[in-house]
Amino acid sequence: MIPDLPDDIDQIKGFLATDEAEALYRHAREAGALGPVLEIGSYCGKSTIYLGLACRDNGGSVFALDHHRGSEEHQQGEFFHDPELFDAGEGVVDTFREFRRNIRRAGLDDIVVPVVAGSEAAARHWRTPLGMVFIDGGHSLDAALTDYRCWEPHLLRGGILAIHDIFEDAHAGGQAPHAVYRMAQASGLFEDLGVVNSLGLLRRL
Ligand code: MG
Repeated sequence: MIPDLPDDIDQIKGFLATDEAEALYRHAREAGALGPVLEIGSYCGKSTIYLGLACRDNGGSVFALDHHRGSEEHQQGEFFHDPELFDAGEGVVDTFREFRRNIRRAGLDDIVVPVVAGSEAAARHWRTPLGMVFIDGGHSLDAALTDYRCWEPHLLRGGILAIHDIFEDAHAGGQAPHAVYRMAQASGLFEDLGVVNSLGLLRRL
């Protein structure tokens, strides 16, 4: 039971199972006390709300990084394209409007700090050590590797690295997050905390 979780949380667009959401909340409550949480790939804010509620209780913040133009699979003609999230005037996907609405309605405007940018641009001058990094961005190998390389170095000792969409079976989904997860496991930098559904969890040593 998560206090103040919006009644309509399951109506918020997104790709996050309940057990994964609860695991994110649990780890963010603990790791968010070490330093701020950074989420890569906020989309419409469903996972951001779980992270935000966790950090509200420990005085923390959530940096919600997303260019809000959708990943490869969200573009027009692709499998996960959602016409409601398409700005026809500009001819681009725009998830930021929906994201802001959901964060405001959840009462988390003071906890969640949106960073509307690409991963590399946001990381270029980043100096703040992080208590938790949640990688849930693009699923191309290039995007997933960039997210890992840009943000892993900012994780504090004892902090949590969470990676979404870890699929052993290539038929279940793209393999880039899985490849990055294996890379983190093999790096010797992390204690393996196992997997919850498709959410891989590691603790920085
Ligand atoms: Mg995901």
